[in-house]
Amino acid sequence: MIHKTEDMISLPSDQNSSGRMLGDEEIKLLGEAIESGTLTSTKGTFVKDFEARFAEMLGVKRALCASHGTAALHTAYAAIDPEPGDEFVTTSITDMGALTPILYQSAVPVFADVDADTLNVTADSIEKVISERTKAIIVTHLFGNPCEMGEIMELARSKNIPVIEDCAQAFLAKQNGQWIGTIGDIGCFSLQQGKHITTGEGGIVVSNNEDLARRMFLFINKAWGYGDPNPDHYFLAPNYRMNELTGAVALAQLEKLADSVNTRIKLADALSDQLQGLRGVKTPRVSENSIHTYWRYCLNIDGAVVEEGAIGLAKTLREEFGIFSAPRYIQKPAFQCEVLRDQRTFGNSRFPFTHARPEACDYSPELYPGTFAGLESILVLPWNEMYTEPHVDDIASAISDSVRKLS
Ligand SMILES: *Cc1c(COP(=O)(O)O)cnc(C)c1O
Repeated sequence: MIHKTEDMISLPSDQNSSGRMLGDEEIKLLGEAIESGTLTSTKGTFVKDFEARFAEMLGVKRALCASHGTAALHTAYAAIDPEPGDEFVTTSITDMGALTPILYQSAVPVFADVDADTLNVTADSIEKVISERTKAIIVTHLFGNPCEMGEIMELARSKNIPVIEDCAQAFLAKQNGQWIGTIGDIGCFSLQQGKHITTGEGGIVVSNNEDLARRMFLFINKAWGYGDPNPDHYFLAPNYRMNELTGAVALAQLEKLADSVNTRIKLADALSDQLQGLRGVKTPRVSENSIHTYWRYCLNIDGAVVEEGAIGLAKTLREEFGIFSAPRYIQKPAFQCEVLRDQRTFGNSRFPFTHARPEACDYSPELYPGTFAGLESILVLPWNEMYTEPHVDDIASAISDSVRKLS
């Protein structure tokens, strides 16, 4: 069926100004940073201000900025200080930026399976892969939907294993009245172009644990003991500092975070309402005690009802309505990417896999039923705070029309 272009739906994109709340406030603070002449956060005030306000917002003792979300995660992993070959339990479905720093810190990722609907790890899937060498558990609150932290924390505390929350997609999400990112031992956030708020690149770590926070501060700063009586470079660490230009934009963006989150939630709820009862389509499953903040809006498509499942629906949405979506989110589980599958790390050494238990690197597909079922069914719709109710009405009718056509 050929449609005229005016039938095509044009949605705001988080890759440019159409889908981002960037404006005069950012320009003003950026100008102040430049006029101050101090662009390093070791001497300036913008990054420090942002850290103080971010910590206050989450009611957490310490927040520290880093250059990227990946750097923030690396900083958290370094604070745990694993021995070569120690294990970090993580998820098969996440951003590679959450995984490569595990290897850089000489630990190995061990993949827990995920729930096929939410694509989140669970206490059960984590427990299956915990070993005597597990040094940390990393949970990713995928798409902004919180993992079941009550059960996960109970498991982790019973084994005395620290929990790192990857909140790159879950700004201001909540569970049981607690902010996501403050339930585990460390929370990590990203300010990359496509997150809830952005500085293009940037990251944040938060913690209530002073020892972990101290180690994270040092790690971001080449482990130089700023302010100590006899400072030295205490251990191996990079420069992961955020600069003041980024800090200025981050400060302006922080003021807009609550609006971004509230709009995303309101419109996601509206879309879920409109899609209720559509056969073959499951709207996001959010547990009663959770607030999902919708970095993306995901559907689970039943391939037995909808012809060619998520892939067929994505194709129809794109060709007939101009709506882009991502079936599968990531094409394959992280452990099937070359870096992990072929252990391409440092030269030909395969380090740190050389120091790992063999079972830690068993990526047999039969161990990951939820992962493969989840990837098969998921359809990820882009989402941002510049969407409006008419956009949601258009998306809902496009999905309903497409699904009816494919059923
Ligand atoms: C974006 C993202 C990261 C990496 O953050 P960067 O700022 O891109 O380095 C890590 N984990 C998850 C879940 C993400 O979505």
